[in-house]
Amino acid sequence: MKESSLDNTKDRFQLWTADLVCPVSDLPIRNGAVLTSNGKVVAVGEEEFIRPHSTFVTERHFKNSILIPGLVNSHTHLELSGMQISPSKLSEWIPNLVSQIREWPSHLFLSSSRIGTANSISSGVTCVGDISVSGESKTAIVDAGMRGVIFHEFLGINDREAEIIFNKKMEEISESKNYEGESNEFVRNGLSPHSPYSTSSELYKRTVSYGSLNNWKVATHLLESPDELQFLETGEGGFQDMFKKLKIDIDFFEPFGCSPIEYFNQKGILRKIDLVVHCNQTDENDWRLLRTNGVHVCICPRSASFFEHQIADIMQMRSQGVMLCLGTDSLASSPSLSVLEEAIALREEDSSIEASELLMYCTLSGSKALGFENEGVGSIMPGGVADFTVVEIPEDYKYLDIEHLFDKRSVVTCTVINGIIRFEKKT
Ligand SMILES: [Zn+2]
Repeated sequence: MKESSLDNTKDRFQLWTADLVCPVSDLPIRNGAVLTSNGKVVAVGEEEFIRPHSTFVTERHFKNSILIPGLVNSHTHLELSGMQISPSKLSEWIPNLVSQIREWPSHLFLSSSRIGTANSISSGVTCVGDISVSGESKTAIVDAGMRGVIFHEFLGINDREAEIIFNKKMEEISESKNYEGESNEFVRNGLSPHSPYSTSSELYKRTVSYGSLNNWKVATHLLESPDELQFLETGEGGFQDMFKKLKIDIDFFEPFGCSPIEYFNQKGILRKIDLVVHCNQTDENDWRLLRTNGVHVCICPRSASFFEHQIADIMQMRSQGVMLCLGTDSLASSPSLSVLEEAIALREEDSSIEASELLMYCTLSGSKALGFENEGVGSIMPGGVADFTVVEIPEDYKYLDIEHLFDKRSVVTCTVINGIIRFEKKT
């Protein structure tokens, strides 16, 4: 990973050309070009029309390549990048994760996060929705020059402890707020009540209220496994054993008697959540509620495979107008932090998804879910940030098409954030 010599000329014009440029917010452009200056896109279009008549232009051509907006990984846990846990049922995997993580000092969370940022950038990811218990991933993201929302995670199933847990966490966040180098343009704080089986309704209410009052994004895990749905609806099933292993007392837990999405809707919580992750165990009524409450849904297809969970009916979700985006989840349950590989896996679930729609899930949809769309993250448009990714396509394709982005042989060769090359694959 390196910054190129182009960095010294950041204030001058830079012309980036490729056989195909896909701005996402507009139609693909053959023999396209992006003109940038000072970290921003000045123009995007056909090379012959936007090439400036100036000698103060640094040029870069990407052969046999497609240039796309920087990829957005809407859900990951960068701080878990250094952890490997064997596949098992979610209710067994969670206690394994917790027992390992309890031993970690803070410097391990930071070095693990740095593995995550390096993997992300080399996969073309420029912006992340990152869940963090330790808060250390913020340092790694800032140092890597990436963008993202750090969703600080809240855990605690007992309503009576909600106030103490909430206040303690908010204190920790405010103490870390003025980290040197932090910039609102790059990294923002968000909140994440973990999941309704691990976080009490009272703690949910406090976090979502704080989020909506202070314009902080809120994300939560929801309905990842059949055990989770059973536990929330009835208080029964495989999650009982998990709580025993974790030594968590759940005697006071009152089952919802319905889907947690229905429950959160009734409690006024759902409309204050921006992003729900997984939603594998959802049905038509859930999708209607998610759509009408304006909640984005992040699907993590390969993490679902890891746990042998069936993901929700994507074709039906799409036809119901649910706002979808993609995430990898952590390296502890996913083979890589590549959103393009996640998109390929999603298409195996629903082959009717067009390549342009898949690219939208990997870019602009995620940017909207994380609140970065006004800066131009997830698209390439004049005035927007100069964040983009170059994907080299196998040479046997003579006429490049957006479809080729999702060929397993295609490779990310360059990642640019704010006009600076942050990764370049050497041939
Ligand atoms: Zn997750």
